Amino acid sequence: MEPEKLQGMKDAIRGRLTKPMRYYLDLCTRCGLCYESCHVIQGIHKREYSPVGRAEVVRKVFRKYFRPSGKFLPSWGEATDLDDRVMDELLDAAFSCTGCRRCVMHCPFGIDTGLIMGIAKVLLIENGTAPEELLMLSDAAVEKGKSIAEFKDGYRSVIYDLEKQVQERLGLPSPEGVIPMEKKNANILYVALAGARSIVNPAIIFNAAKEDWTLSFFEAVNFGQFLGDPEKMKFIANRVVNEAKELGVKEVVIVECGTAYRIPKFMLGPLPFKVTSIVELIHRYLKEGRIKLKEGALTAPVTYHDPCQLGRNGGVFEEPREILQILAKDYREMSPTREFNWCCGGGGGLVALDNENFRIKSGKPKRDQIVATGAKVVVSACENCISQLETIRSGYDLDVEVRYLTEIVAENLVV
Ligand code: SF4
Ligand code: SF4
Repeated sequence: MEPEKLQGMKDAIRGRLTKPMRYYLDLCTRCGLCYESCHVIQGIHKREYSPVGRAEVVRKVFRKYFRPSGKFLPSWGEATDLDDRVMDELLDAAFSCTGCRRCVMHCPFGIDTGLIMGIAKVLLIENGTAPEELLMLSDAAVEKGKSIAEFKDGYRSVIYDLEKQVQERLGLPSPEGVIPMEKKNANILYVALAGARSIVNPAIIFNAAKEDWTLSFFEAVNFGQFLGDPEKMKFIANRVVNEAKELGVKEVVIVECGTAYRIPKFMLGPLPFKVTSIVELIHRYLKEGRIKLKEGALTAPVTYHDPCQLGRNGGVFEEPREILQILAKDYREMSPTREFNWCCGGGGGLVALDNENFRIKSGKPKRDQIVATGAKVVVSACENCISQLETIRSGYDLDVEVRYLTEIVAENLVV
């Protein structure tokens, strides 16, 4: 590698060497307690797909350039140069990890392998070998943030069509204003995804609850985070932060997307508004009596898949369960559950990549969990998870239906 490029790579690593990161890189005792905790190694039995195996690729590079033993006695210090072979290993390690953080629960030192993969990702960006799909999608989101005025008219005409669907479902006299946009000082700014479903179903719920809300011009998904580019991640997230500040809203409500929730909730520092998941909001409406659901409307056995970024890493466990226990006659829990739930294998932007066979194999623990419940309906609250659960359903020919939580709430509202 040319000296200039190598220097850029070393600087990229240095930029990620926070105190916790140095601790994670130095402290692993290779006890192996995390080895079986990753859904990937459960489905593809290769050491490289264990948490400790994938972190070791980064550790070898770190030792080579940042530890004396690695610099002067590389074989003794188990260190390695940044060459093409290592770059390929970093690509495989980083983009087979969903950042689910299940391994953290099994490591006695709390080593966060998902975070270590952040170093692999910045090296891949620096090397020009990060996944094309994620580069394109994150660049498009950044571009939209820079020239939002050009998108507004087109978006408004799409929304007008969706307003008619909301009007029909609720039997309202007119579609006018049922999906408000650019409303100043509303209680809630709702941030959806690109698909109509993520707008129509919450709009039905907001109207039924008589909420004072407005729809964001931006989609919630953050491809900068999936790519592992901290600058793009912040730019994409700040599009919504700035919109919320300009409108003067009290609360930002995030669509069913775990990562889109976790970023403003935990990663941007203090914000002048509350951040809530749509799942928490539906639960709040039910507690306050602002909406009512048809009790026992789902007659087939139902189970719930905890999205890792909403559950284990976001703390939203009970709200979706309490909603489903109203709707389902026969609610069944997966095992293990809550913070020990198996990742479905679709997070970290992996569903955007061309890797379906890999995702079917790494979704094996999730497949086994679903089958063990005997449920016929699998509900989740994250678009990435739903997409991966569909891949698991078709890949293993499972006799189940995969549903969004907001969709079944909107369908079963008492109006
Ligand atoms: S964060 Fe999840 S996918 Fe990544 S190594 Fe840990 S258990 Fe595996
Ligand atoms: S459990 Fe922790 S210390 Fe043990 S091998 Fe895994 S990461 Fe290293």
